[in-house]
Amino acid sequence: MSKSNRIYLSPPHMGEAEKQFVLEAFETNWIAPFGPHIDSFEREFCEIVGCKYSAALSSGTAAIHLALQLVGVKPGDEVLCSTLTFIASASPIIYLGAAPVFIDSERITWNMDPGLLAEELEGRAKLKQLPKAVILVQLYGQCAAIDDILEICKKFNVPVIEDAAEALGATYKGRSPGIFGRIGVFSFNGNKIITTSGGGMLVSDDEALVAKARFLAMQARDPALHYEHSVIGYNYRMSNVLAGIGRGQLRVLSERVEAKRRIFESYRAALADYDGLEFMPEAPFGKCTRWLTCLTVDAKKFGVDRDTILAALAGENIEARPVWKPLHLPPVFKGCKCRGGAVAEDLFNRGICLPSGSNLTSADLERIIFTILACR
Ligand SMILES: *Cc1c(COP(=O)(O)O)cnc(C)c1O
Repeated sequence: MSKSNRIYLSPPHMGEAEKQFVLEAFETNWIAPFGPHIDSFEREFCEIVGCKYSAALSSGTAAIHLALQLVGVKPGDEVLCSTLTFIASASPIIYLGAAPVFIDSERITWNMDPGLLAEELEGRAKLKQLPKAVILVQLYGQCAAIDDILEICKKFNVPVIEDAAEALGATYKGRSPGIFGRIGVFSFNGNKIITTSGGGMLVSDDEALVAKARFLAMQARDPALHYEHSVIGYNYRMSNVLAGIGRGQLRVLSERVEAKRRIFESYRAALADYDGLEFMPEAPFGKCTRWLTCLTVDAKKFGVDRDTILAALAGENIEARPVWKPLHLPPVFKGCKCRGGAVAEDLFNRGICLPSGSNLTSADLERIIFTILACR
């Protein structure tokens, strides 16, 4: 058991074509936030996820920021958001001067509980305090109960923004997440299932909405010979060089999904029989990518607690993490409302994300599994 090579949670994994596409950008001098790779990447992305329009952006966070603005979120508004998620799902709500209201998870998907969402919206409808939008997160490569959530939101006419940053390659009833709400958002950060080192995608079937996203992402420049502006925009466009990496990565997406699912199966085969270890379930309505293999530890049954396992892994130079800390807990969102919260808190307190890189070797896997079992 060598400690020398660090095992990362989900490192980048390049395919064959990325370098050639990047080289092409250099050879044609399209080293800019526009160019042919961006157009092709957007088109190829639409084909893969099954949406009509897309805008390649500098990050998933930028995409959420634009999406919220496009559905009309303004200072003083409220936006509902899953509590069990990475902070970038909610920080753009604050950028716009609005307030997040968090919703707890359900056990079967670890994602937003549709029952709690219905309670929240029904209560708010009576008070005439409906939120401006719902941010629905598809966590760890697994889709939420999308149909239930869309139906509730439709009843109250609240637009849904899907944060599918972690769920590219997953399916819900055979279709990709991100295409069900008014707007969908994806991320190509370095740890995501495919990466452009940093980047994001905003998708929608509404052509005007995506055109406006592109407009806002390029400093909101009005059509004129000179530089003319009637609203404030952002510098959020993706680089043509990075879009080249993205085009290469799209070609191996399905391989990456299968590799991640195989890694999950290896963990399950080795660990599922131990009392006190429970893997994130795969909801029956979809295919989870297992972007990260996640499990919870029952310390009484397993014999050691979550933090002991994390410390042992860290000691072996293996990167593992607790499940996301629910956003209603950290000081930065102190005072924000949350409906429920106990499920997400429990998943956070007992949950571990294990190394799940699609390039993980079987020797790496053995080392991780050995370390976990040696804790007991
Ligand atoms: C990674 C991530 C984001 C943000 O994407 P970036 O491209 O890193 O800005 C948003 N939401 C979730 C759930 C994520 O995991």
